[in-house]
Amino acid sequence: MRVFNFSAGPAVLPEEVLRKAAAEMLDWHGSGMSVMEMSHRGKEFISIADRAEADLRALLAIPDNYKVLFLQGGAIGENAIVPMNLLGDRSVADYVNTGEWSKKSIKEAKKYCTVNVAASAEDRNFTYVPARTTWKLTKDAAYVHVCTNETIGGVEYQWVPETGVVPLVADMSSHLLSRAIEVAKYGVIYGGAQKNIGPAGLTLVIVRDDLLDRALPITPSAFHWKEQAAADSMLNTPPTYAIYIAGLVFEWVREQGGVAAIEKKNIAKAKLLYDYLDRTEFYRNPVAREDRSRMNVPFKLHDEILDEAFLKGAKAAGMVQLKGHRSVGGMRASIYNAMPVEGVTRLVQYMQDFERQHG
Ligand code: PMP
Repeated sequence: MRVFNFSAGPAVLPEEVLRKAAAEMLDWHGSGMSVMEMSHRGKEFISIADRAEADLRALLAIPDNYKVLFLQGGAIGENAIVPMNLLGDRSVADYVNTGEWSKKSIKEAKKYCTVNVAASAEDRNFTYVPARTTWKLTKDAAYVHVCTNETIGGVEYQWVPETGVVPLVADMSSHLLSRAIEVAKYGVIYGGAQKNIGPAGLTLVIVRDDLLDRALPITPSAFHWKEQAAADSMLNTPPTYAIYIAGLVFEWVREQGGVAAIEKKNIAKAKLLYDYLDRTEFYRNPVAREDRSRMNVPFKLHDEILDEAFLKGAKAAGMVQLKGHRSVGGMRASIYNAMPVEGVTRLVQYMQDFERQHG
């Protein structure tokens, strides 16, 4: 029996995708092979990778002057790979600090350049996105880095920051494909796949062509965007099986009506949960209303002594992975694309019942 899995990532995948992968496990489309067993340079796998890229481009309306790369190393890898690829002859990069993942990006970038923290939400314990008017950007910065959805804090940008000629770089790990985005407003978009896209091990990078000439000479070839773009992301062996599953997820998103339709569902799912959180004193979400994440909803019970009982009861009711990140405690419900509305409804019902029993 499958559970409702509220994990922040690796996370729930569409059941249809898992079933299809299972059906194709031993023999993909009459090839007599599993995708896992295919050469990444063979025509079968090339067709899988090409289709995945084309579908992603269509889903996100990625303009032709952007490359889409399927790499390894995860978003933490990209935290180092971004400065290596973008610094060129500049020495300063601007970072906006909205929480745990921003902090990690900043820490890593400091190994390669001077980091100017242009704005920080630390003053209110990372519960909001600092207004653009408060950002202190550097004139000659190589780029401006943001984390557009803080997976741990549950803070999401509902707007795109304007950064003029300085390229905007966004870690979108935990909300890529959950909403329509205007790719052209970004220089680089990156993210690990293991939330809305597929299995861990695949990293997506969407980079504007004119930014491919800035890599530092020390950049490893496997992480050199221009070299990888020239090699169609096959300078090294790409994470083939993860790309295949991502491709199935892209197909699934298309079948759901595309990103706009998925976004509508995500808005409705998040509303169910936040509306309830706003009606009760028993649970609390600390994030400023306008900056709440549609994907990751952290909340605390009014007395943490009840946490264990809450999690135990949730598990008995078929809902798992609701424990909050160890750095913040409490609970967190991650409600990615593949979480059906029934999962959120059941969670809210359970929260109400639990409140009635313990409130
Ligand atoms: N950035 C964000 C926003 C994340 O949610 C995560 C993973 N939870 C990371 C970066 C790190 O990703 P990875 O572990 O794949 O390197």
